Amino acid sequence: MVSRVVFGRGSFSQLEDIIAPKRLSVSAPFIFLVDAVFEKKATLSGRIPLAYDDKVIFISADEEPKTSQVDALVEEIILTCKQRPSGIIGIGGGTIMDMAKAVAIMITNEGESKDYQGWDLVKNPAIYHVGIPTISGTGAEVSRTTILTGPVRKLGINSDYTPFDQVILDPELTKGVPKDQWFYTGMDCYVHCIESLNGTYLNAFSQSYGEKALELCKEIFLDDTLDEKESADKLMMASWHGGMSIAYSQVGVAHAMSYGLGYLLGVKHGVGNCIVFEHLEEYYPEGVAMYKKMRAKHNITIPQGICTNLTDEQFNIMIDVALSLEPLWENAIGKNWQKVMTREKLRALYSKM
Ligand code: NAD
Ligand code: ZN
Repeated sequence: MVSRVVFGRGSFSQLEDIIAPKRLSVSAPFIFLVDAVFEKKATLSGRIPLAYDDKVIFISADEEPKTSQVDALVEEIILTCKQRPSGIIGIGGGTIMDMAKAVAIMITNEGESKDYQGWDLVKNPAIYHVGIPTISGTGAEVSRTTILTGPVRKLGINSDYTPFDQVILDPELTKGVPKDQWFYTGMDCYVHCIESLNGTYLNAFSQSYGEKALELCKEIFLDDTLDEKESADKLMMASWHGGMSIAYSQVGVAHAMSYGLGYLLGVKHGVGNCIVFEHLEEYYPEGVAMYKKMRAKHNITIPQGICTNLTDEQFNIMIDVALSLEPLWENAIGKNWQKVMTREKLRALYSKM
């Protein structure tokens, strides 16, 4: 679990005080990995507390993180710093936070990041790392995974060393997120709740967080009485609780299929979940009905026909990626999932998208 967290509008200003005691020496810098969208935005300008050799690296979130990108960043950091950095601070959405977690792990672990995709393969503790979300929903700020696209698969580095040592939840930073993106990433949280609460892995720990997150999602996406600030504050906490819920259970059908779309077509996680969730009535009847109500209420368009012109080979790649995520299927369907979720069934579902 994340060991330290602060919450509150304006809490980003505490960053300097929070990290100062963690500085190892004047030549051991803090590296700030920041979503490139903030290069042009006033929200953060001049507010990143730089000292000594600290560095800001702006990273585009146009594409989801790749193992090759993580390895290149780690090499750059090792080559350009006099000493091993004091810490990595990721400021952005799931893309940047995952990058920060992966870089912090790979600074102390040999080899390439693709070797650590899977469960509990990381050998050495990561360096100190801080997560600061600027868009809410993924739960990446709280999870024990960092999802990377590697040469053979899209899979997380799931380990006890992955979670952040410190998280700063400042809902002010989420101001200005485009509406569609707000919905897509927010629905990631909603889908986490539905998949966790309807999974066979459910337990009292996950349920307590999942139910709270779902209650918040209903308020945020269906209730007209919330103002913009209340809604942003609540979505930040929904994201946290949704992430906590899946930390001790699993996601399900939507995530398994969305990973296939992401791997083959580069469809991003949030919108990918929405594209898939449109067609999952059979597995999550109530969840899908409520999702459609939310999508209609906010007048959001979901891309369609993205699989129309795919070849057999391409369908097979997506199906392979999806089916390789065994814990997700077992959680969603049960131990006999292989009998239920056949390649033909998956092909038919993908063909509708
Ligand atoms: P994102 O980080 O990809 O960002 C989406 C878009 O919003 C980008 O264009 C970004 O620049 C923009 N943006 C972010 N903050 C903004 C702000 N304050 N103002 C304006 N624009 C802003 O989106 P996401 O949905 O948060 O993250 C998706 C990623 O998270 C995927 O790579 C997915 O695999 C990963 N993920 C990780 C976990 C986990 O547990 N580690 C869980 C779910 C998803
Ligand atoms: Zn997700």
